[in-house]
Amino acid sequence: MRHLFSEAGLARLDTFVQPGMLCAFDFDGTLTPIVAQPDQAQMPAMMRERLMALSKYAPVAILTGRGLADMRAHMGFEPAYVVGNHGNEGLPGWEANAQRFAALCKKWHAFLRDHLRPQGEDAGVLIEDKRYSLSVHYRAAPDQAVAAARLLTLFKALSPMPRVMGGKCVFNLLPPEAVDKGWAVQQLLEISGAPGAMYIGDDITDEDVFSLKRSDVLSVRVDFFKDSAADFFVQNQGEVGQVLDALIGRMKIRSKLAC
Ligand SMILES: [Mg+2]
Repeated sequence: MRHLFSEAGLARLDTFVQPGMLCAFDFDGTLTPIVAQPDQAQMPAMMRERLMALSKYAPVAILTGRGLADMRAHMGFEPAYVVGNHGNEGLPGWEANAQRFAALCKKWHAFLRDHLRPQGEDAGVLIEDKRYSLSVHYRAAPDQAVAAARLLTLFKALSPMPRVMGGKCVFNLLPPEAVDKGWAVQQLLEISGAPGAMYIGDDITDEDVFSLKRSDVLSVRVDFFKDSAADFFVQNQGEVGQVLDALIGRMKIRSKLAC
């Protein structure tokens, strides 16, 4: 995996970027710093301003593990597309599964609440109920490895067994038939009619997009990870800001050329 601002990465940007392409982003850890309390996350103003500038040239999408209502409270602007719950909320037809997914998550949540011991060995574990999926955070646990092992054992007792997707000090529990972010990006490409997509994400759930390996999808991972399927990486959110500048600059020039 090479750096996006390497010679090869810049050359790829030059050939790939065009006005009207889908510009899709994960939220936490990509557009905004990860914080201990997910409800405290706020998108930096400089990131929001760049996304708004980018919106003049291309459809912008945010694909997040958060629920949609929660996501909207943290954005401060309205992109062309917002997809929540790892692709399971907001795309056409998502309502067909909504009631069933919500009932399942409610049942899992009740079981976990009854079996977690927040005053004892599960101290610091936080269940985030996103209605159509659950996120179980263990960032604040005194021993994260012990907490992770204990949670994985506990999840095996859930019925039906959820699809468990790991992340940065979090387990995401989804219904077995839930879709993922890779599916969501392909849907957005179809819906928008965009000629291609760029996707930037920082976590394991974003690997479902990175591993699409479509020639019309350029993928970038935040923070180098040697096993990532992404095409390129950037070091941090500061560099994500620079990527946005690179996209805006190139689209501005190309839209002028097209006039
Ligand atoms: Mg993320």
